[in-house]
Amino acid sequence: MQTVFVTGGAGFIGSALVRTLIRESAYQVVTIDSLTYAGNLESLADVLDDPRHRFARVDIGDGPALRSLFEHERPCGVIHLAAESHVDRSIDAPAAFIETNIVGTFNLLQEGLRYWQGLATEDAQRFRFVHVSTDEVFGSLGSSGYFTEETPYAPRSPYAASKAASDHLARAWHHTYGLPTLTTNCSNNYGPYQYPEKLIPLAIHCALNGQSIPVYGRGEHVRDWLYVDDHARALRAVFEQGLAGETYTIGCHGERGNLAVVEAICALVDELAPHPSIADRRSLITFVRDRPGHDLRYAIDMTKIQNELGWTARESLETGLRQTVAWYLANQAWSDRVRGNRYGGERLGLGQAI
Ligand code: NAD
Repeated sequence: MQTVFVTGGAGFIGSALVRTLIRESAYQVVTIDSLTYAGNLESLADVLDDPRHRFARVDIGDGPALRSLFEHERPCGVIHLAAESHVDRSIDAPAAFIETNIVGTFNLLQEGLRYWQGLATEDAQRFRFVHVSTDEVFGSLGSSGYFTEETPYAPRSPYAASKAASDHLARAWHHTYGLPTLTTNCSNNYGPYQYPEKLIPLAIHCALNGQSIPVYGRGEHVRDWLYVDDHARALRAVFEQGLAGETYTIGCHGERGNLAVVEAICALVDELAPHPSIADRRSLITFVRDRPGHDLRYAIDMTKIQNELGWTARESLETGLRQTVAWYLANQAWSDRVRGNRYGGERLGLGQAI
């Protein structure tokens, strides 16, 4: 029985990955998470008590705690997702992004390296450290073209810059020390259990509650939307079949402008939860001041992961969005609890908190 560490496993994508690994593989899974505002054990409710799952409340900045986890659990690999992940918060308060995304990743690489260097040859050859990153490290595209594994880095927000730095560390630990790291750069995810500060869950929340739905600028920004369970399967494929030292870009040709996404959400909420007095939730859409430095367009060429690892997305934006809206309708209590008194839907990312 092999053990995998999933850092950030109580967050949005991490919890989807932990659920996927518990349901669809034989691994023992150790979720490592410090439970920031974005981490929640309720997101792991389905698997928390599974005999193959263990939870460790550990900050990735805590080297000694990581060291004892490696020594005690003896994992065959790490899939590293723990991060501060919201661009808007990185504009208001970048320090935590430097601390977790850069220094935390450095700590995890160091402790991973120390453990890996002590493994027997066969175990060391099998060991993998998958560093999960974003397409935002590549900067912004114009109206055409795609990001590939060869695209030069040009991060433009504090979040993207901190992730770019951590990508360089992960690759350097492979090149310099031989640690078998792999890096993934994925497009925007959506799906169940996403903290309701991000565009899609926030829009669903506002639409359901008859509140104005904020859209930055004129909603012209384009993202390549990937359903979170498709990302989880991609990460498993990279972990099991990817080549050490390689990078894989992950997306699904799910390009859509933000306004089109929000309008699709309005139509789904109208259909699945008609409002007694608002016939068309699109009337709630409100254009608000744009995010400073907002990148215009991201889109991914995922030929490499398709051809080399045989991964493709199963969900289109239409099927995935329908499932997502249905999930938030059925799980409003989860949304309310994770927001609690920590986040009331207020505008973030104008740089006013600095
Ligand atoms: P999230 O904010 O939902 O979850 C992050 C998790 O990390 C939380 O559970 C949090 O408690 C934990 N965490 C934060 N700081 C920690 C620390 N110092 N020590 C231990 N745990 C800590 O984020 P997400 O959207 O699930 O993103 C996960 C990863 O995927 C991130 O690395 C992010 O950069 C990357 N990514 C996200 C997207 C996206 O669209 N959400 C796209 C591409 C890549």
